[in-house]
Amino acid sequence: MSEYENHVKPLYDRDGNLHGVLLSPEIWKKAGKKISEILDQAQDKPASEIHQEPIEDWQMFKDYWDFKYPFNAKVSCRACGAESENWEEDSPRVFYLTNASLSGLLVFHCEKCGATVRKKHFKDHICLEATSHSGESCEPECIYPK
Ligand SMILES: [Zn+2]
Repeated sequence: MSEYENHVKPLYDRDGNLHGVLLSPEIWKKAGKKISEILDQAQDKPASEIHQEPIEDWQMFKDYWDFKYPFNAKVSCRACGAESENWEEDSPRVFYLTNASLSGLLVFHCEKCGATVRKKHFKDHICLEATSHSGESCEPECIYPK
């Protein structure tokens, strides 16, 4: 038996039809989280549910908008240059929301390069920062909307 067959066993019913696939606890421990995500996608669950985005916090953030400039949903990654005009509407999504706080801080995960992107809202300007997958901080970008 190969290593693979030890961990992944197809199960057949008595007519020889594939009934299911049995995964060993060892392989599930290593890959279960990833596999669950793929299974969720295969069932067409919305991305927000798969990635468990704090959508309620995001909604609240939008509802209580009190900055001096109009609301915008732009996100850009300083680490790899990925950009989105509206992160919620990309298909496939480039940015996943990991945190939203009423104080004005939004945290995203960049799907392209794995960086953590922070969009900080101040009274009259926005700063975008990123920490790359390997932990390096990128030069922040600040935008002063009119
Ligand atoms: Zn990126």
